[in-house]
Amino acid sequence: MITDVVIAGAGPNGLMLACELGLAGVRALVLERLPERTRENRANGLVGQVVRMFDRRGLYERLTGTQGPPEPAPGFVFGGLPLDLGVLNDNPLHLLPVPQLRIEQMLEERAVELHAEIRRGHELTGFTQGADGVTVQVSGPAGPYTIETRYLVGADGGHSVVRKLAGIAFPGVTTDLTISRTAHAVVPAELVDPATGRLDIPGYGTIPPFLHHRTERGVFVYAPLPGTGTPLISTMEWSGQDPEGPLTLAELRASVRRVLGADIAFGPPDGQGPHMMRKLTGGNTRLAGRFMDGRVLLVGDAAHVHSAIGGPGLNLGLQDAVNLGWKLAADVRGLAPDGLLDTYESERRPAAERVVMSSRAQSALIGPGSEVTGLRALFTELLGDPRNVGRIADLMSGADLRYDVGVDHPLAGRWAPDLDLADGVRLAELTRDGRPHLIDFTGGDWGHPATAGLPGSTTPCTALLLRPDGYVAWATDVPEPDAESRASLRAAIRRWLDASRCAAEGCAGGR
Ligand SMILES: Cc1cc2nc3c(=O)[nH]c(=O)nc-3n(C[C@H](O)[C@H](O)[C@H](O)COP(=O)(O)OP(=O)(O)OC[C@H]3O[C@@H](n4cnc5c(N)ncnc54)[C@H](O)[C@@H]3O)c2cc1C
Repeated sequence: MITDVVIAGAGPNGLMLACELGLAGVRALVLERLPERTRENRANGLVGQVVRMFDRRGLYERLTGTQGPPEPAPGFVFGGLPLDLGVLNDNPLHLLPVPQLRIEQMLEERAVELHAEIRRGHELTGFTQGADGVTVQVSGPAGPYTIETRYLVGADGGHSVVRKLAGIAFPGVTTDLTISRTAHAVVPAELVDPATGRLDIPGYGTIPPFLHHRTERGVFVYAPLPGTGTPLISTMEWSGQDPEGPLTLAELRASVRRVLGADIAFGPPDGQGPHMMRKLTGGNTRLAGRFMDGRVLLVGDAAHVHSAIGGPGLNLGLQDAVNLGWKLAADVRGLAPDGLLDTYESERRPAAERVVMSSRAQSALIGPGSEVTGLRALFTELLGDPRNVGRIADLMSGADLRYDVGVDHPLAGRWAPDLDLADGVRLAELTRDGRPHLIDFTGGDWGHPATAGLPGSTTPCTALLLRPDGYVAWATDVPEPDAESRASLRAAIRRWLDASRCAAEGCAGGR
């Protein structure tokens, strides 16, 4: 039996890719070495465009139980400095504070609905690739076996076996001796100001929630995340004492004493777990030399790792998966225009490079030393200017990403704005099928009519072609289709979709 796509790894990014392939009519086979879903939580939520992406697939609704649209966040942090997003007219930064475990559970349910097969306890142990396919070696509960597949995707995390076996380099740096400690812990009620949620610590002063609070000796974070009952306490120290063995609350408390110079008598978490108790030493910033090698592709942490500061990992990895899904499905189904699959790397590598840049800058801003104290003072001044807040918010959300789609219009290559369509449907509801859409703002000859124009935008636009991943493949500002705009629309359809869809040229008045 030949399988179309084997995905190694049922983490969030492998599961998201399985969903996207399913939407596009391709059944993915997902191999996961763990026999059961992990109980180890990593991310505490989603940060950035991916929240809107989830809305455009109906996944936001599944996680929140609300219909959306997601509202932008009133504030966030960059390098431990507060970002007042309320000063922005068009705030692009969305947050969804949902534990990664819950996100993975939801994605797995959705992938299975979309006919993905998920084999737990099945580890990829090797592969060989030829011109037409890949032979994958698997170790399963009943012993070793092989699978023939057209494509293999490594979504197997930062230590990716697929990446290593493909001989793809993973250059970058392993940093410093930083020790970070994080645990769920109950803080004495008398230390918490119920009005603001801030901590009032005797002998130290006040510390707002959710902020990376830097002192000359380290960083302290108090995060009373909604829905979990028990807050997270976290410290980061730049060198020194690392007692052997797993983290204990006593070790975390001693670390807090060193960082703040004051004691917090927190106690063990109550309520249902799983509870966090994690110590990490050092960190890696690495980017795969290639995201694709013949019929083998990498998504998520398999392609890039970086500091978790600012929470950019899932924004990057889940959008890798959404960028790759429709392209890979088109290829498998024989519909892909020449070079479509190559655009996965040419589009996503710059996105990864920007996350690496941003997370390095943020790590520097919470580092030790009086120079950093000076740098933070300067950044604080700069963040008093809403234009700078806007640029940082664009960077953190990924809203500044623009793919090269070869069309001049200012919206071309960008994430399509949220729109209301003529029949009362939001654009985010129209796109849940993962298909491309042609949208008409004139109510005229182009395609789906829209009523609301472009909210918050002064950019003239009369029609746009939306790719399945929510990015604008083509846009125009001519009031009625003319020969030139029809020709450029046809070119965009051929470039991103497939030549056979030009039979649908009628929708573009493309006679
Ligand atoms: C401490 C910490 C905090 C973080 N906080 C945030 C945050 O707040 N926000 C955010 O967006 N991101 C955060 N991240 C990053 C985020 O957790 C990762 O980016 C994300 O888990 C990557 O998903 P993935 O699917 O690429 O890989 P993983 O989640 O690592 O999943 C890979 C899967 O592949 C499986 N596997 C491995 N090898 C094989 C094999 N040979 N065969 C079959 N299966 C295999 C593994 O068992 C695993 O299930 C954090 C990360 C850490 C470590």
